[in-house]
Amino acid sequence: MKKVFPLIVVLITLSVLGIIFIQMSWIKNAIDLRKQQHDQDIAQAITRIKDAFYDRFAVKTGIEFSDENSRMYFMKNFSANFLTEGEIHQIIDQSLKRSNVHNKYEYSIIDIFRNSIVTSRGFRNEYIPSSINTQITTEHSPYKETLLLYFYEDNNYIVRQLGWVIAASVVFTALIISAFGLTVRTMFTQKKLSEIKSDFINNMTHELKTPLATISLAIDALTNEKVIHDTEKIRYYSGMIKDENKRMNKQVEKILQAARIERQEIKLNLQELNAHDIIRKVAENLELQIQEKNGMLTLKLAAQRHILEADEVHFSNIIFNLLDNAIKYSKDAPRIEVETLQQSGMLAIRVRDNGIGMNKETQARIFEKFYRAHTGNLHNVKGFGLGLSYVKAMVEAHGGKIKVDSAVGKGSTFTAYFPVIR
Ligand code: ADP
Repeated sequence: MKKVFPLIVVLITLSVLGIIFIQMSWIKNAIDLRKQQHDQDIAQAITRIKDAFYDRFAVKTGIEFSDENSRMYFMKNFSANFLTEGEIHQIIDQSLKRSNVHNKYEYSIIDIFRNSIVTSRGFRNEYIPSSINTQITTEHSPYKETLLLYFYEDNNYIVRQLGWVIAASVVFTALIISAFGLTVRTMFTQKKLSEIKSDFINNMTHELKTPLATISLAIDALTNEKVIHDTEKIRYYSGMIKDENKRMNKQVEKILQAARIERQEIKLNLQELNAHDIIRKVAENLELQIQEKNGMLTLKLAAQRHILEADEVHFSNIIFNLLDNAIKYSKDAPRIEVETLQQSGMLAIRVRDNGIGMNKETQARIFEKFYRAHTGNLHNVKGFGLGLSYVKAMVEAHGGKIKVDSAVGKGSTFTAYFPVIR
């Protein structure tokens, strides 16, 4: 699986590049062909011009010919001087149009001494080198007159003629590339998901194994002859089992809760709550844990309006999770500060720690379910990566929002905003 993924990306990239290359060479061929066709059209137009000159000359002289040979013999007398400027202009113009040449052009007909017989208004001497020269008099004519045809630069005719083909191939190539992009993105998401899943299973096994081991040891002790008659010890070991059982229950509850949030099955039991009271209560419960780590928790509950319409259990859990993380993700003595203040009509609860902090990338993802930053050796810290996704879901369910601000090595600040009722 690990090797298949890059292989697929390489194969698709190669095939997309191949398709683009083939499309481009195909379009280039089409353009070349179109250019050749254009040159042929011009050559045909010039033949038409000569024929039309001779025809007009024949009409003017009023001679009829029995066959092509006698006609050509007579045509050695042809000179552009026999035609009017208007006739010449009309013949050139019509012949070009009939041969599908729509470029802007200038022309000049010159005699053997390079003197002009007739010249279009826009013709310049500097056009002569890049003009198409055609002798319009016959081979044995004494006049030797030349038609100079100059075409203005126009590459747009290719776009006009091949425009939709080029556009369609650009559109389809873009479609293929977007489909490719989507496929690769989906594959990456799937890969990430499967990593998250195996991480989660690892975490869960780990989290449940510790209490199970403790329970098993406690039961062993309970069945020990020496312990069985000692009520004090029995109480101690059964208390241990109870605690571990409670811990396991909590873990399972966490996972079930995440599933309930996912199915949007959580109903809030809203009531008037004094946010400060709850914060104090949760802080008190965590006091011991903080002391154990030689840490300190400061409360600065300064908000004037701190009565919320909230669910007591979930609101307490929110505060608990934020404080629990602040303790968990600090290297040594945690310095934690909980501050409340009024901000644009909301109650802002700010939990600040001096812990390991997070980079921007991690900050962007911590509210995702199952996300855990891989912070080197500090990840002996236990967790399922569900705490903050729960916090976010619950804060939002209460009509609030949550923000994080953090710097690696400096600490993190989580701010939750709640609407107040009074
Ligand atoms: P858990 O703590 O179970 O891993 P959370 O959803 O509570 O799950 O947190 C997700 C991740 O966010 C944590 O794994 C950790 O990397 C990061 N995190 C959360 N809170 C903090 C904090 N206060 N300081 C540094 N990192 C934190």
